[in-house]
Amino acid sequence: MLYINGEWTDSSKGTFQITNPATGELLGEVADGTREDTEKAIEAASEAFQAWSSLTAFQRSDYLYRVYELMIERKEHLAETMTKEQGKPIRASRNEVQYAADFLLWYAEEAKRVYGEVLPAPRGDQRFFVLRQPVGVVGAITPWNYPISMLTRKIAPALAAGCTIVLKPAEQTPLCAIETIKLFAEVGIPNGVVNLIPTTDPSEVGDELLTNQAVKKITFTGSTEVGKTLAEKAGSQVKRISMELGGHAPFIVFPDADPVHAAKGASLVKFLNTGQACISPNRIFVHKSIVDEFTATLVERVNRMKAGNGLEEGVSIGPLVDKQALEKVNRQVTDAKEKGAEAVVGGVRLDQEHLQNGYFYAPTVLTNVTTDMQIYREETFGPVAPIIPFENTEEVIAMANDTNYGLASYVYTNDMKTAFHMFEKLQFGIVGINDINPTAAAAPFGGMKESGLGREGGKEGILEYLETKLGGFSI
Ligand code: ADP
Repeated sequence: MLYINGEWTDSSKGTFQITNPATGELLGEVADGTREDTEKAIEAASEAFQAWSSLTAFQRSDYLYRVYELMIERKEHLAETMTKEQGKPIRASRNEVQYAADFLLWYAEEAKRVYGEVLPAPRGDQRFFVLRQPVGVVGAITPWNYPISMLTRKIAPALAAGCTIVLKPAEQTPLCAIETIKLFAEVGIPNGVVNLIPTTDPSEVGDELLTNQAVKKITFTGSTEVGKTLAEKAGSQVKRISMELGGHAPFIVFPDADPVHAAKGASLVKFLNTGQACISPNRIFVHKSIVDEFTATLVERVNRMKAGNGLEEGVSIGPLVDKQALEKVNRQVTDAKEKGAEAVVGGVRLDQEHLQNGYFYAPTVLTNVTTDMQIYREETFGPVAPIIPFENTEEVIAMANDTNYGLASYVYTNDMKTAFHMFEKLQFGIVGINDINPTAAAAPFGGMKESGLGREGGKEGILEYLETKLGGFSI
């Protein structure tokens, strides 16, 4: 169903089917939104903007707080929907729902902290005031890999700021989006404030969001490739944009670090969501002196991982989201092997009987990885850990920064000087030092270079939805 102006409606184009990527089972049918539906949603969001932005911050905060409470109450249902539709193990889904709820709570609080400023003016009879006002209607486009938290990370700050929103979820995960938007409907969010347009034609719906004059801002999370085309189009109307795009995170282990501890960290963060995260380590640089111990521990941990349906106990590796994803991982691993890499564990599709209807790829560790391999340059988005030995600090900084991406990076060291040096020199928006989870609703998330524009979360996140207006008064 589409959600437009407070009503769940069908689409003139009919429906599309959603299947479980672990089992191939049909999960449901969803209305297939069109350009006309998007236009209606934008109109509804424009009409709702006046009243929504005129509410007090306390009133808007209260709505967000109530959605937060409801999301926590429905955590199990939302997590199950996510595991069935997207494939991640149920524990990871629960964590994601909690993370999604955290954004609602954080921005329920931040709504009340949108402050203005009084500035010193150059003349005695002059006064300067800075006012922050909502940008207007927001067009949001979200991905399938974090199908609930990526929604609240956009909706919560937009609504807190006083904006209204039209959201297009990924075609792979509209059920998660529908279940999330139901919470807003249930707490009685005014009609038109939040609108949802699932579709099988992202470019048609996206095009309306990008070209409709009423939309003042585009917020996007997805691939760098699509992000660039959207940014170009948004540029013709000088729409505000924020983009969370791809990553190619380095994971660097210095010789003073404990290789066993670092390998445990690598196994946890690399295989999270089956490697389908923009902050997933894609290049694991380990100092030559400890690379054997590191690799042995990583391999031992990977050997213990169980792939399967995420609703089953003990499963830690879910399926890849679709056939193309599986093919991409396969292509990168084949290319690496042809150029001399060794798959010390994994390196194959998993197609035993209980897995053959899903898109499973074995968790894989590659050694002897070199710079001429596709996997060294391209984002992987799969359960493959390529290990690259290094010898000295400046060499590894150069290798880590030698990418157009700049989202997350990870460093293991016990040396204070190395830690600070790396924090300052790595050209990435997020640096985890001995820390594999440097994300939270209260922290700014975002990338440098071609990994994005703007930040989500934290006190920075709400600024993306606010205009800064200067008032000069002669008195
Ligand atoms: P991923 O590789 O994560 O699937 P995409 O960038 O393809 O990344 O998809 C992220 C989001 O962008 C999804 O909601 C998808 O439907 C949307 N999308 C893809 N192509 C377009 C497009 N041409 N216009 C608007 N949205 C698009």
